Amino acid sequence: MAIPHAPDATQFAVATDSHRSLKDLRARRPGQPVCVVGYGGDQQGKEGVFQHFNVRLAVVKFPDQKTLGYDPQDLLLPCEIHEDGEAFFEIRHCTICNQIFPLTSEEFRAEQERDTCPECQP
Ligand SMILES: [Zn+2]
Repeated sequence: MAIPHAPDATQFAVATDSHRSLKDLRARRPGQPVCVVGYGGDQQGKEGVFQHFNVRLAVVKFPDQKTLGYDPQDLLLPCEIHEDGEAFFEIRHCTICNQIFPLTSEEFRAEQERDTCPECQP
């Protein structure tokens, strides 16, 4: 799914080998593509871009221009971002606890795909 970006946003967008959520990222830059989980509302599973922090909430802008605040740990990172800024998320259900977790880029490229979340099997 393509997310419209500001022209200068993609240089800040990162897909990392080991981080899974915005909470894990040390440098949280505007323009970071994220996928919303653990919310249950209309935005569940939707993709947007991180804008800034508002108190303890990470503010995310969606393609329809709506902005909403989330707990940074509910904002998953993409496993890949293409040169044109398109972000790809690989989100799985843990086979042990059934919670949702994203594959990192390293796991996405691994021969054997991870099927348990980091809490069940770090
Ligand atoms: Zn689990």
